[in-house]
Amino acid sequence: MNNRIYLCLAHMSGAEMSYIQEAFDTNWVVPLGPNVNGFEADLERFVGCDKKVVALSAGTAAIHLGLIQLGVKPGDEVICQSFTFCASANPVTYLGATPVFVDSESETWNMNPALLETAIQDRIKKTGKKPKAIIPVHLYGMPAKMDEILAIAAHYEIPVLEDAAEALGSEYKGQKCGTFGHFGALSFNGNKMITTSGGGALVVPDEEAKKKTMFYATQARESFPYYQHEEIGYNYRMSNICAGIGRGQMTVLEEHIAHHRHVHDLYAMFFADMEGIILHHAPNADYRPNYWLSTILIDPEKTGFDYEQLRVALDAANVETRPLWKPMHLQPVYKDNPCYVDGTSEKLFQKGLCLPAGPWVTDEDVRYIVDTIKEAIV
Ligand SMILES: *Cc1c(COP(=O)(O)O)cnc(C)c1O
Repeated sequence: MNNRIYLCLAHMSGAEMSYIQEAFDTNWVVPLGPNVNGFEADLERFVGCDKKVVALSAGTAAIHLGLIQLGVKPGDEVICQSFTFCASANPVTYLGATPVFVDSESETWNMNPALLETAIQDRIKKTGKKPKAIIPVHLYGMPAKMDEILAIAAHYEIPVLEDAAEALGSEYKGQKCGTFGHFGALSFNGNKMITTSGGGALVVPDEEAKKKTMFYATQARESFPYYQHEEIGYNYRMSNICAGIGRGQMTVLEEHIAHHRHVHDLYAMFFADMEGIILHHAPNADYRPNYWLSTILIDPEKTGFDYEQLRVALDAANVETRPLWKPMHLQPVYKDNPCYVDGTSEKLFQKGLCLPAGPWVTDEDVRYIVDTIKEAIV
């Protein structure tokens, strides 16, 4: 039996320990310090576009602080892609606001611009006010249709908060995901493109927004010698130890991205002759996904298998796979929220599977996974 092949296991460069050691040697074992500044500078260089970056305790915290700065308050509505992980939408709920869910289109699997516009118009008609923000997601690292989404957002003057938690390094028309919106959220959780063991970051437009984000992330402490608070803050800053891991990870980020793309290319080659399995891929050259996970749709009529049977077969062959994200409008916790859907994400959820694509997945592993699928199905 082969060793188990996982979806996306963390992979260290070796440089992480030296940054952590330095933090210990200089006694910077606190939630600020040289590694935090260094990691932020690395990320700012990486995403480009003159953006600033604030390192935080989680991607979820990044979305939360972004929404606060967009003025989201109790009773407001925020439009959110339905086909996503719950962390895209939950911070809206933390603020006493209501997520309004919009379905995906079938090319990128991300927010459908036509349904976005329908939703905006209908919410204005029904509530008399505009949604406060739009949260598109670059799911599985596939860039959303940003030109269309940004044009609609600009037309209705609604700010965009991009959820780029799965899309570190993905590009749309040569620009990094996370830099298109007013804010962009990144995640460095254990199974993302890079990890800080747990962490995230908010991409912000300028130095002033960076200061404001840091203020909210450190309990909204005013500049007095004593502790003065005029607003509610949070304890969301990344620690200097976690940022040390992040700095080490930044040295291998480009390699990780290249590897994820290589694994996707292999799947594309091996699945090319296979009826009933469709590998999710970029619609055209404007889209340059990081291919965080490679994902497939399984046609039950052509293969005689549904995604769950295939998941169980692969699990028995020691391969970890996972169904696609269950859309938020189908989640019990969000069942009463307004939603603008056409069945696209529901169908994807019923047909799809995520395949291993992390830094530890070898060419032989990909061949083994595809062979296992072929043997199971034929
Ligand atoms: C992982 C993830 C997040 C949240 O990031 P955390 O760092 O785990 O809080 C948000 N949105 C999406 C789409 C994610 O995959």
